[in-house]
Amino acid sequence: MKYTLMGNFQYDLGVFGLKKVLDFFEEKYETDEKYYIIVDKTPEELFELVLLKLIYDKPIQYFLRKIFDDKELKNQLKDKSNILKDFDFNSIDKKKLVYEKNVNKICELYSNIIPDLIELEDKERIFIELKAKFISLLNNILLNFQADNSKVNRKKSYELAVSKLDKNFYKSKSCSYCKENPGKEVTRDSFFFAPSQLNASWFNEIPFMICPYCLVSNLAITQALYFFGNSSQNALAIYRSNLKDLEELYQYLETSKPNSIGKLTPIIINYEKALLCR
Ligand SMILES: [Zn+2]
Repeated sequence: MKYTLMGNFQYDLGVFGLKKVLDFFEEKYETDEKYYIIVDKTPEELFELVLLKLIYDKPIQYFLRKIFDDKELKNQLKDKSNILKDFDFNSIDKKKLVYEKNVNKICELYSNIIPDLIELEDKERIFIELKAKFISLLNNILLNFQADNSKVNRKKSYELAVSKLDKNFYKSKSCSYCKENPGKEVTRDSFFFAPSQLNASWFNEIPFMICPYCLVSNLAITQALYFFGNSSQNALAIYRSNLKDLEELYQYLETSKPNSIGKLTPIIINYEKALLCR
């Protein structure tokens, strides 16, 4: 699949985010380092990599706390909440775990971390809940990516999310972004922050379509945002129209680590000045 930047900042940032995910996992791809990347992977394989990177970005405690806070598990676990405080999370090599590139495996390892947890009769339950928490990370990116969170469907949360990439849903007009693959209608569960009126149209002619590949690159968009400090919510999208400039700008920010808009502005001005002096 060839992802080409198209001047649409949301789409381009998604491609840049996907490139960062591939770099993180040391995956091979072709690129002119400016306007395109060519990846030899299926949407499902890319989906798994993006999800693994999102899992890696969160502390393990984040997921375990979610399990402890779960309405139905809360009572069973209430006497064990100090387990989280006592466990040495630094002893776990998270990078090694995600490098296995297997969501099931990391889920199993996370649910085995605390022996007291696995002594619970229903070990499978922890596994299912944990996997559903992984998938819910995608809901922070695409609205209602996995809307059905009922007890029955939590069991199949991963499969349900991946099923959104099923080729059978994509058989209409070609994708508005890559122009290569069959697409389906763009909605808020397929394009980052798609406004509800994006696909408003006359005579039922839907103007925007998206294919599974472009949907997956959108899931990587948060990798292309700059987060202030340790915040996972206060982020800024800064856009340049080619991958090389984006890469450089973000490296510049990573080195200077501004923690507010006030501090960020002079850094960007200095960056622009440095570009002009080249
Ligand atoms: Zn596409």
